[in-house]
Amino acid sequence: MKRATIWILILLLAAACAGAGAAEGFVEEEEFVLEEMEDFDDLRWSFPIPLEDMNPEYIILANKHYLLDPDYVPEDLVLVPNKPKEGGIWHQDAGQDLGGKLKGHHMRAEAAQALCEMNQVMRAMKETDGFQNMYLKSGFRSYGKQKTMYNNRLKKNKGKDDGWVSMPGASDHQTGLGCDVVPNNWKDRGMNDKMMKEKECQWMAAHCQEYGFIIRYPEEKKDITEINTEPWHLRYVGIPVATYIMENGLCLEEFQQQLQAAIADYLDKGGDPEKVAAYIQEPTDKGE
Ligand SMILES: [Zn+2]
Repeated sequence: MKRATIWILILLLAAACAGAGAAEGFVEEEEFVLEEMEDFDDLRWSFPIPLEDMNPEYIILANKHYLLDPDYVPEDLVLVPNKPKEGGIWHQDAGQDLGGKLKGHHMRAEAAQALCEMNQVMRAMKETDGFQNMYLKSGFRSYGKQKTMYNNRLKKNKGKDDGWVSMPGASDHQTGLGCDVVPNNWKDRGMNDKMMKEKECQWMAAHCQEYGFIIRYPEEKKDITEINTEPWHLRYVGIPVATYIMENGLCLEEFQQQLQAAIADYLDKGGDPEKVAAYIQEPTDKGE
């Protein structure tokens, strides 16, 4: 081989190496930019709970201003196990037709499991703290069942809505995540706010978030929830959200208000609409 040819080969080889190096450099740079963008997206999300720690279905609001569709039925309803010895919770009025065609008390699967776990802990406190047996008085209620209950209440009350039974579509029970849990001495009585005196109810108010529940209608939030205080009504939202709500003394309406503001802020800063779409909830009585 002539010396000139060798030099050309060396030069070509050097050029090829330089090209590969440049390409590698470019890839690294591109990856760096992407990483930086993801960090930036986290910066856009100002809410204290990351999106992935909230199940959008578990935080839905059902009230007079956020009505559920008449045909809204959660997909994963299960019969809550009713044998405490086998890990369940006693049912009250379980023979009644409480959810349209459903006999007994049903809830969404994850909520039912969490309730049973909490009941096992409360059962263990029979020995240590003299706790009574707890009864599940009501779980999922269909739109139709709620309509019947609401109309019956109106009839009883001369046509006046006294805030004890939610109108159809506005009941937390239709979400399959709300439930009424009462101590033994209240299972056959009309429920009222005096139940708050029971140590079992006080314990639930202090510990329900550890199982993913909140007290849905706290005494001090009556003006916002427009529902009388109900120490027995628990609502499953998942542990991160429940902890945030209970530790900050909020009700679900206030939580949703904060969340929707955080979503608007995220979108204003150029956040990805697809990431938050499932979390957006708008009032059904807008403009009224
Ligand atoms: Zn209830």
